[in-house]
Amino acid sequence: MTSEIKHVAVIGGGIMGGGIAALFANQQIGASVFDLDLPLAKKCIALLEDPNAKIPLLYTTKYAKYIKPFAISQYAEELGKADVIIEAVPEVMKIKKQTFQEIDKHRKPGSIVATNTSGLSVSGMVDGCSEDMRKHFLGTHFFNPVRFLPLVELIPGKDTVPGVIETMRDYFVRIGKKPVVGRDTPNFIANRVGIFQIMKVFQLMEKYGLSVDQIDMITGPALGNPRTATFRLADMVGVDTLYHAAMNQYQNCPDDEEREHLKPTALLDRMVSEKKLGEKTKCGFFTKEKDKIKTLDVKSWEYKDKTEPKSDVVRGARGYARAADRIRAMMGSSQWPGGDDVVCRFSREIVLASAAYAMNRIGEVAGDLLTIDNAMKWGFAKEVGPIEILDSIGLEKSAEMMQECSIRVPQALKDAIGSTRTLCKQTPVETLYFDVGSKSMKSVPARADAILLKALKDRNKVVRENLSARIYDLDDGVLLLEIASSILPEMNPIDDYVISMIGQAIREVKKGHRALVIGSQGQNFCAGANIQMMLEMAKARMFTQIEQVSMALQMANMALYHADFPVVTAPHGLTLGGGQEITLAGQVRVAHAELYCGLVEVGVGLVPAGGGCLQLLAQLIETTAKDKPGPMPPAMKALDLIGWGRVSKSAHDAIDQGLLRPTDVIVFDKDLQIRRAKEVAIGRLTGFEPIPQRELTLPGKGGFYVIEDNLKGALKQKKVTEHSLVIALKQARILTGGERASSVNPVDENYILELEREEFVSLCGMPKTQERMAYMLKNGKPLIN
Ligand code: NAD
Repeated sequence: MTSEIKHVAVIGGGIMGGGIAALFANQQIGASVFDLDLPLAKKCIALLEDPNAKIPLLYTTKYAKYIKPFAISQYAEELGKADVIIEAVPEVMKIKKQTFQEIDKHRKPGSIVATNTSGLSVSGMVDGCSEDMRKHFLGTHFFNPVRFLPLVELIPGKDTVPGVIETMRDYFVRIGKKPVVGRDTPNFIANRVGIFQIMKVFQLMEKYGLSVDQIDMITGPALGNPRTATFRLADMVGVDTLYHAAMNQYQNCPDDEEREHLKPTALLDRMVSEKKLGEKTKCGFFTKEKDKIKTLDVKSWEYKDKTEPKSDVVRGARGYARAADRIRAMMGSSQWPGGDDVVCRFSREIVLASAAYAMNRIGEVAGDLLTIDNAMKWGFAKEVGPIEILDSIGLEKSAEMMQECSIRVPQALKDAIGSTRTLCKQTPVETLYFDVGSKSMKSVPARADAILLKALKDRNKVVRENLSARIYDLDDGVLLLEIASSILPEMNPIDDYVISMIGQAIREVKKGHRALVIGSQGQNFCAGANIQMMLEMAKARMFTQIEQVSMALQMANMALYHADFPVVTAPHGLTLGGGQEITLAGQVRVAHAELYCGLVEVGVGLVPAGGGCLQLLAQLIETTAKDKPGPMPPAMKALDLIGWGRVSKSAHDAIDQGLLRPTDVIVFDKDLQIRRAKEVAIGRLTGFEPIPQRELTLPGKGGFYVIEDNLKGALKQKKVTEHSLVIALKQARILTGGERASSVNPVDENYILELEREEFVSLCGMPKTQERMAYMLKNGKPLIN
């Protein structure tokens, strides 16, 4: 059997085939894409290569070079080279069977062959194929978009030999995916439960007379789901895809206790017959008319202006940071005041019906409840699993509420109430779950190869903490500084608490440790500075205080970069503005592959002033010196990155753009990022020398005038606004080295930092910058005024 994956073949270069080919190309593994003819295969690669793709599936478009197009008529010459072959042709059994008959003729013995079917019988597809192929055959069910949804369901066929599942599981874990092993049942795990949930929403919508906009308000983040909620998701996935998946479940699960509820409703029937299929036909539950979003009114069957429904229950629930608290607030209780609100009644029914349905699938679609919950979290981006939520509600209370809602209480829930009284529990060393067979808690040990911050907290490894940051002892002389906002945990903005904790971390290392890592394990590393605070100070004209805040962050970042011990930063997810400035303060960065970083201060009318201009310039001088000598190229490059607020599409892209160094480290498995950062920090200890203060050779006034001319030309051509020009000129002044620099007069670090502060403060005083800040706070996107 294949032991190392060096080359893959993907059959069918559509939505999923393209995503799967990109997944391997991102690992710099060659992928041959086969489609009905060569132009179709080439089209697949062209879409992946598009630098303006709405969802970039490649880490960097240059990785498209690893993907080669072929027609299926070329199987004979090409297929034998592949160690792994993954099929992603249309969801039609006959086409799949024919495809596997062909593959069987040309594959090399021992190669692993997989189907990406969403829910057809895996074993049924290879009936009649050779024994070697059946032995090496499995389902690898990816979720769309392949790069961004971590789940891969691995489905053994009836003849799959041991080792095939393990090989694929280990490989996927290594590249940062989250595989789960399911069973060969219709729609497998996540879609089986997910389809039930969506069909249930359709029924409850009718029962409670709710509109499409109201349903999306209720079933989004307030119930622990992504913002796409129900109907935006349906439009993205395709209403017909949903319909076929539901039909598959209805027709092939004759014993399902909810079978009658799996049948697509009349509404769904009508949408499919009228080709209201969502994004692919440009109309579904939503459509766009003259740039305005319209929602389908399911009563009048007309598209009307999208509404923003209001609900006190939803507003109240959104106030909770933890999803389980939000869900409980949404459910209310029939005995509490307000508990008979339609939102509460709807929420109770959908949460409890989903939990019951998922519990009844234990042993059928997967061996245990943990696998089902994980599949829902990793494939549908749910914050809480449908089963584990019952622990937060209380098991007895859940059973009572189920009865009130006429939902039959699952036997597994009754058993847990009578035995363990818990379904799921996480401790620092293990995850415990209720095993339905033995009616006892079973343990899955925590990954021994990962450092989990939650576990460190429970093991009293927190050295210090405040409202926005925490210091942990990682052992072996290494401390970790975590930016962990208690108010905005998703965004982790930088505030005084974070800056103060950087100073404390430096002092703690000096007291008896050897190195520092800055990282976290939430959704994002840090989405920037606290603009609310900055805007209030700007409006109150507290310019001295503004300068002090800027200087404090500059000093903290410089102290990190020039520290006499190793400092490693570990960015991931959104790493913007001040977050990127802290990243650049690491002497080495260990980045997660999914990194969206950039100095985006221009979006709020500002310039980076926490050392970001200085650090980016110095880094670009270092990295461009060989190919583009002279002081102008790095200054121009920095101006391009800062001026346009460019954000990387991945860690690889960040290196290509110059936002990280080519020598920085990239980690694919996010769970291993902190451990790797710690190893890198320890690796730097031998012979460690602090980085000395730098002198920067910059173009000075001469360079500034060239840029000024260009920018004024852009204004004349109305390519930039007047305020954008003002900001760009201030950026240019800093990046060319102000009044002191010239190609023969290098300037020191402090001078660039002074320029950063001066221009930052002056911009804060400008009404148009304040408008940009206020707009960002209100709308979450930049204003170009
Ligand atoms: P798609 O229609 O986008 O792509 C199918 C591709 O296969 C097309 O490029 C088509 O030209 C090509 N093709 C057709 N017949 C072929 C043949 N005989 N040999 C080679 N190529 C052929 O479909 P998709 O959405 O990528 O779905 C592919 C598979 O993945 C299906 O089984 C689907 O159920 C499954 N899936 C889809 C999603 C999703 O969200 N789209 C998610 C998970 C799984």
